[in-house]
Amino acid sequence: MTDLGNGQSPIDISNCERSDGPAPTSDYRGAAAAVERRPLPLITFERGSEVRVGGDAYRLLQVHWHTPAEHTLEGAEFAAEVHLVHIGADDQLLVVGTIYELGEADPAVQRLIDETRRAEAEGDAPQLDATEVAPSPGGYYHYVGSLTAPPFSEPVQWWLRQTIGTVSPRQVEQLQMLTNGPNARPLQDRNGRTILCCGG
Ligand SMILES: [Zn+2]
Repeated sequence: MTDLGNGQSPIDISNCERSDGPAPTSDYRGAAAAVERRPLPLITFERGSEVRVGGDAYRLLQVHWHTPAEHTLEGAEFAAEVHLVHIGADDQLLVVGTIYELGEADPAVQRLIDETRRAEAEGDAPQLDATEVAPSPGGYYHYVGSLTAPPFSEPVQWWLRQTIGTVSPRQVEQLQMLTNGPNARPLQDRNGRTILCCGG
């Protein structure tokens, strides 16, 4: 194992500091490009979708998911987490994450599941519009961390939505079928990092 930095992800989200700084706003356009396995499945998107934080723009690269959720909230564990991975100037990475608890099925998550399966079976592009995966407005938790899969690169600007979604037990099963089982990285040390709560 190569040396990892002191700013790894995921972490437990707790004791956030209120911030009046900018939160991400999204402008998503265009369609999904492909399903790729690296080795776990992710859906890549055509150029045209971005989030802005203050004056900085980050382009949407791909969407993927984890079951169970990777981040915890004050120690509480959740069922699933969807990551929207973006890249900005100087290859700065930014991930917008949504955490889901067990409950009603989520229609947008179902579209991800269905189109990943269909596209892989038919060797086709997912019939998915970027607007279907766009984060809805609301508050965020923000901290600086890393990718949660190899090469665990730092820094990654993390923006976790404060609004918790719901997925059904069946959806968790379907998501896990696509990743051949659970695929959440264990919690990492916070190492004194500040977590901001913004917007909402
Ligand atoms: Zn991820």
